[in-house]
Amino acid sequence: MVNVNNDSCYTGDDFIPDTRIRFIANKIYIRNNYWWNNNCKGEYVNGVCPTTSLWRLYDLDQQIVNNPSIPRGINIYFTEDSFNYRHLIDLQDLQDPAIFYGNSAACSQLPSYTDYNRTSKVHELDIYSKYWWFQNLYAPANGVPWDRQRKAYANLIGRGLAHEIGHSLSLEHVCNFYGSNECRVAVMSPAGSSPRNYIPPPEIGKIYACFSLSNLRSFIPDNTFLGVKTITTNYDMPYNMRLYHSLNIANTASLTISEDIVMSSEGQIEVYGKLIINDANLTSIGEKWKGITVKNNGYLEITSSNISK
Ligand SMILES: [Zn+2]
Repeated sequence: MVNVNNDSCYTGDDFIPDTRIRFIANKIYIRNNYWWNNNCKGEYVNGVCPTTSLWRLYDLDQQIVNNPSIPRGINIYFTEDSFNYRHLIDLQDLQDPAIFYGNSAACSQLPSYTDYNRTSKVHELDIYSKYWWFQNLYAPANGVPWDRQRKAYANLIGRGLAHEIGHSLSLEHVCNFYGSNECRVAVMSPAGSSPRNYIPPPEIGKIYACFSLSNLRSFIPDNTFLGVKTITTNYDMPYNMRLYHSLNIANTASLTISEDIVMSSEGQIEVYGKLIINDANLTSIGEKWKGITVKNNGYLEITSSNISK
């Protein structure tokens, strides 16, 4: 990301150069004439956006999710327009090299904060045929060396993909700091020509929150652990969440947990102050977590709750 001190993007002084979010790419190749083809005429909207069960690739997504050999994750589908592909690449009878006849649209899906088993999907259209068009028609017609055009293509597609993944991670075109198209450098700017290399720090915080609170929690590797958080004040946790930290409740502090919590297998809770667990289940994502230890004059109260693996 670039450092931006631009009032149209963010008014704070802080800057986070690296979100420290890393993605594990797991490429899967599927040969299927129906799913490959996004040229689906009257069902165009359902064909593009993966937001409902009417989406054209919904059944494929279900198959992938139910396949135990495929790790859960944000499923990004790359499809092609069969008409464009046939004429551009097979027959080569789309003659105007300045025009790309495929789709420039892409569509993503915001996280779910109620259905923790829901999948997250992104649909990217005509990425390969656009690559072919740049290489074989656009670059030669404009006298641009292919290595330079290839970099421009990668930047263009990469920025678009980052934007769609931004939606998958809960970000929208508008946030507390800018309206739609007001911050040109924002990853979430909807304009395709924008530089798209900046996320305001609070928006990065929003992403981390959705890793705990939404269905994205099921995509994070089981052994993810971010260290110890010390609670120093009176604090309520009425959120169904996956916790990536251990908790240390200081002797001056009180924590009330009243919704289900999924702990990291490395995680534990040490109680020097007061911990109240009321009507909540504490479990772990994979292996056993390290449990609750009451220290010194610490106080633990458990009501209508279940503490397990
Ligand atoms: Zn968007």
